[in-house]
Amino acid sequence: MANKLLSIVVPVYNEQEVIDETYRRLSEVFKDYFMDVEYIFINDGSKDDTYFKLKEIASGNKEVRVINFARNFGHQIAITAGMDYAKGDAVVIIDADLQDPPEVILQMVDKWEEGYEVVYGKRLQRAGETFFKKFTAKTFYRFLDSMTDVKLPVDVGDFRLIDRKVCDAMKCLPERSRYVRGLVSWVGFKQTSVEYQREKRFAGETKYPLKKMLKLAGDGIFSFSYKPLKLATFVGMLVSVFSFIYLVVVLVQKFIKNDVVSGWASSIAVTLFLNGVMLIVIGIMGEYVGRIYEEVKARPLYIVGELMGFDGDNKNK
Ligand code: UDP
Ligand code: MG
Repeated sequence: MANKLLSIVVPVYNEQEVIDETYRRLSEVFKDYFMDVEYIFINDGSKDDTYFKLKEIASGNKEVRVINFARNFGHQIAITAGMDYAKGDAVVIIDADLQDPPEVILQMVDKWEEGYEVVYGKRLQRAGETFFKKFTAKTFYRFLDSMTDVKLPVDVGDFRLIDRKVCDAMKCLPERSRYVRGLVSWVGFKQTSVEYQREKRFAGETKYPLKKMLKLAGDGIFSFSYKPLKLATFVGMLVSVFSFIYLVVVLVQKFIKNDVVSGWASSIAVTLFLNGVMLIVIGIMGEYVGRIYEEVKARPLYIVGELMGFDGDNKNK
């Protein structure tokens, strides 16, 4: 009987200092392993020598495959492409920067063999990350969980093993603003976690500046919850109640106490405040409308420039 196949999916963006070491560590872990292993590196439009290095790795090792994106499509899309191309009975997603130790995959495979279909890595500690990153991540995961009806595990990234069944189920979710870890929770199946210490980045800088972090957070919130839309109803009701009370107060002052109701400053304050609230609500609706627009256009999620190491491809080899 043929061995089972494990696909290891690694999204890579400007990681020229790291990538050789990543492959070395991975291949060390899976030397003489009881499963066959394929490595799928997705070059997400790197501007440095990453692609050149990946080609070198792939040309010397037949278990290495490279998907070269036509431009930078983002981490979540890169992972998605890796899952689309993976042929394994189980698929592991791991960052290229060695923050997630490859050795942990062995524990994930053990759990998978026990019958779990999703095994995610739960971060116990995050070494070498700024207080800001740790704080925002921690707050965000808890906030998101409270916003959604799907149970989303907290302090969990995309480092995980998924079974073939889960991978196939994920392919039925073609949505564009992808929050992959949320989608994996959404499809369900038997899930468990293994705990690990998140290491320092092996080299280089984070490829997740604040802007990309906010986009990921937005995708998490807006694709998994419509609670922000209810905010308008809530604020509207609150304001109506207060204004009604205030109206009564003004009428009493005017007709019973015969006072003049003074008002320029308070009118301006209230107008500005309510206009602010309205713009925020329009902005929130805009987030959803924009996402609907993206979906309706139905563009492909990513464009592949070259493939290397896959059966039947002859490009660039
Ligand atoms: N990455 C990517 N495309 C991007 C940004 C990041 O493929 O646009 C990859 C990156 O090379 C790494 C992983 O996604 O393998 C996680 O990025 P990073 O380690 O910079 O994020 P952090 O760990 O700082 O959150
Ligand atoms: Mg990292």
